[in-house]
Amino acid sequence: MHVQVLSSGSRGNATLVRAGETALLVDSGLSGKEMRSRLSAAGMGPRSLDHLLITHAHLDHARSASSIARSHDATVHCALANMEHRSLSRARRYHTLEVGGEHRFEAEAGEEPDQALRYSSVPLPHDCDPTVAYRLEHRGRVLCVVTDLGIVRDEVVRALQGAHVLVLEFNYDPHMLETGPYPAALQRRVSGNRGHLSNQQAAEMLVQLAGPNLHTLVLAHLSAKNNTPELALEAAHGALQKIEREEVEVLVASQHDIGDNLEV
Ligand SMILES: [Zn+2]
Ligand SMILES: [Zn+2]
Repeated sequence: MHVQVLSSGSRGNATLVRAGETALLVDSGLSGKEMRSRLSAAGMGPRSLDHLLITHAHLDHARSASSIARSHDATVHCALANMEHRSLSRARRYHTLEVGGEHRFEAEAGEEPDQALRYSSVPLPHDCDPTVAYRLEHRGRVLCVVTDLGIVRDEVVRALQGAHVLVLEFNYDPHMLETGPYPAALQRRVSGNRGHLSNQQAAEMLVQLAGPNLHTLVLAHLSAKNNTPELALEAAHGALQKIEREEVEVLVASQHDIGDNLEV
């Protein structure tokens, strides 16, 4: 299984996952035009995507979901409550997400059923209901994509164990948020229990998610106004140092450029 972050941040999120014959996107949050250009830069031609897994209906995750699903003839996987949303309502095919449950794709030729690609969705505390993280598993390799949550919860941590590659939100630095341009109400939204993770909260979650499999960590959904890659990296490296896992490779996902195609 390979993972490539195509865009990450409040202007749009999308992560490409390729496993065997299957290609899917977790979220499609840029405009259709920009999504197509980044997919093409990642080597994905027309009609090459099979599935879109949507985390929630906020526009920075779902903006072009219907349009990309239609142009690729892909199935949109999202919660029933999100299906009515205008950015999600015009796809041709849907799979209703069983929030908290597991979905298994059909095994490919020569593949044992238990080796087939599968995913589970994990409900997150965020101000769009429901919002989920995804844990994908293929041939014993595990990828977790975890963004848009306001607080670290034990049940979320329990459900996201075993990742070889972890894409984790490091949204804001509390001091930058407090002294930055956001009005007070928006500051409260971001830092609230249904908002986003600070670098420190994400570091705390990382300590609990960095199991023996973990080899690569991608810092995601960094705020352009309330964070810097340096501060997020400092928090992540500090956490890995604390648990003596400094060998884990740490990358920062970009809003503007596609990331490396990482082997999970
Ligand atoms: Zn959101
Ligand atoms: Zn978001």
